[in-house]
Amino acid sequence: MLPNTDIIHLPGLGEKKTKVIKKALNIHTVWDLLCYYPYKYVDRSKIYSLSEVKSGITHLQTKGTIKNIQTIGSGRKTRLSAQLVDGYASIELVWFSGVNYAKNKIQEGKEYLVYGRISVFNGHYSISHPEIKPYTPETLKLCVGQESHYNTSAGMKRMFLNSAGMRNIIYHAWQLTKNEIIETLPQYIISYYKLYSLVEAIRAIHFPKDAFDLEQARYRLKFEELFYNQLIVLKRAKSIKENGVGHLMSKVGTLFMDFYQKHLPFSLTNAQQRVIREIKEDISSGKQMNRLIQGDVGSGKTLVALMVMLLAKDNGFQSCLMAPTEILAQQHFLSISEMMKKIDIKIGLLTGSTTKKQRDVLLENLSLGKIDILIGTHALIEDTVQFNNLGMVIIDEQHRFGVEQRSRLWRKNTVPPHILVMTATPIPRTLAMTIYGDLDVSIIDELPAGRQPIKTEHRVESERDALLRFIKKEADKGRQAYIVYPMIEGNEGDDIQAVEQGYEYVKTHLPSLSVSMIHGKMNPKDKEREMSRFVNGETHILVATTVIEVGVNVPNATVMIIESAQRFGLSQLHQLRGRVGRGGEQSYCFLLTPTKLNYPAERRMSTMVSSNDGFVIAEVDMQLRGSGDIEGTAQSGDCIDFKIADLYKDVELLKIIRNQVQTILDVDCNLLLPDNSILHAEYKKREQSSVRWRDIS
Ligand code: ADP
Ligand code: MG
Repeated sequence: MLPNTDIIHLPGLGEKKTKVIKKALNIHTVWDLLCYYPYKYVDRSKIYSLSEVKSGITHLQTKGTIKNIQTIGSGRKTRLSAQLVDGYASIELVWFSGVNYAKNKIQEGKEYLVYGRISVFNGHYSISHPEIKPYTPETLKLCVGQESHYNTSAGMKRMFLNSAGMRNIIYHAWQLTKNEIIETLPQYIISYYKLYSLVEAIRAIHFPKDAFDLEQARYRLKFEELFYNQLIVLKRAKSIKENGVGHLMSKVGTLFMDFYQKHLPFSLTNAQQRVIREIKEDISSGKQMNRLIQGDVGSGKTLVALMVMLLAKDNGFQSCLMAPTEILAQQHFLSISEMMKKIDIKIGLLTGSTTKKQRDVLLENLSLGKIDILIGTHALIEDTVQFNNLGMVIIDEQHRFGVEQRSRLWRKNTVPPHILVMTATPIPRTLAMTIYGDLDVSIIDELPAGRQPIKTEHRVESERDALLRFIKKEADKGRQAYIVYPMIEGNEGDDIQAVEQGYEYVKTHLPSLSVSMIHGKMNPKDKEREMSRFVNGETHILVATTVIEVGVNVPNATVMIIESAQRFGLSQLHQLRGRVGRGGEQSYCFLLTPTKLNYPAERRMSTMVSSNDGFVIAEVDMQLRGSGDIEGTAQSGDCIDFKIADLYKDVELLKIIRNQVQTILDVDCNLLLPDNSILHAEYKKREQSSVRWRDIS
């Protein structure tokens, strides 16, 4: 059977089951099915004898003969009981539901392989609802070893497509197609890195003989996944460098010079200057720029963006600056308009709350080329937004934009605009190499002069009132404060309640101060009003959810209290903290948590307290996530979809692979050598379905 056969042709899968699987798991072909990897493995490599049962063992796999089957009780309380004996000892098997089904499955005097959780019932060892199968050579092949477990939906389970059911079907699928599975890595790679073949790896990922076998399979599959990611990313980077036509912006014109020499509110940091220089080189080369700016919070990326947009205008092009939230777009608009007061340049703002009337005028002017810089949210990427001559796209805090959203900006011009992506959170190296691997990277590794490091402290919730008194003291000096509450998806009701209660609490405890509140469920008008009251200094305190996390700039704010800080991830905490310390005053960040914290949360707090360096924080974040820190990872989707590779753990492997791929491309950039024919074919196949960074936009 060929791997691309529809799963309906597999034995045991009728029309109904096929439909359910397709719907629940998006599995259509036999190959899809073979690529549906288990989510966990249970060690069933050993069959215990019953005399080995002792306290401490939670799960038991054993074999024995069934004796003494009896139905006990009646009505809803009926239970089925049977003894399993192996010549040395016995154990009770019990069923509290599905009694009739179980009764038909077992027979006295026959031998069975049994697996389940051990408990003590009626004063002796028992297993309730055991997994039970006739003891045959075939069962042994399927069950003994590392047993794979599969996620299935409730609908699937109703049709007996539970984990065991899936294992069975996958076993058949594997048997029927194993001779038709075509290798996807060249032989020289397989031999050099001593990898399992693809066929072997697929077998072992589903039916590993032991832990080593499983590890080999995982290694091979990870290797392949990262290998093709890097092949696509590096090949693309090379071809942009060699062939990607871009707008020529070689002129440094009057707007740029005028602003730089006369109106710049402060002198640029060395890092800002260096990055602007790097960008100038890119855009005067005639090739398309694809650049990522990594700069810690507060390093002054907005100013860089602005100067780049002035360059674009000097060369006759329009620019757009896309921000992840409405508040941030508005802020960019205000601060950029302010800086451009004396400069002859037209700036527009387009967000979800722009009225129809304003919008029509704006779009008309945009298409006539009467607007030079358009700032906005993802409203910018709607098809109705037509530029006259878009030359520069700047995406701020890009990871908040979904791939789909980004790719829609592209259709706005025939020659691709230059792309500048700015991220605030330093990205772990693995992410930089995979997601942004085809972008050139600039780093702003310097904060503007005169900034004092923020003092960060970890406090327990009972100290809240003392912190409020601290806010009062700062407010008396004319400063402002943020109090931030977590907002976790799927839990909005509760979270908003927490913010609202917090707001009331602050108002009653600090009656002499005025307080603003914003959260995601407020209507845009109210949000805007509350936010601008705080930005303009009319209110002392802003109580908010993480809507303020990204970008917001109020240099007069010196205190940040983060409520339930244990619920935030590290990079999020760092982002939040970056909202203070933006002016010359000493600023403070307080992380409020319950007294008892689990290890990763404890570590996140201590990291925040001891470091202000985004790169250090990103590294710790990576380690913690690698160690299975679920709580801290519920962040915006900054990961691409690797099936088996783990971006937080596989850094070393990724580096090896990156070098290997680079070497191959240096020798054979179009993959035309006979040894690379497999690479050529696979590349073609996979490249089409992968995300293209330069086509973003
Ligand atoms: P981020 O990189 O986090 O986006 P911003 O661009 O918002 O940072 O800048 C943070 C603050 O620093 C702003 O108030 C901005 O005006 C100010 N700033 C930017 N560049 C400089 C500089 N070279 N010297 C002094 N202040 C600067
Ligand atoms: Mg910013």
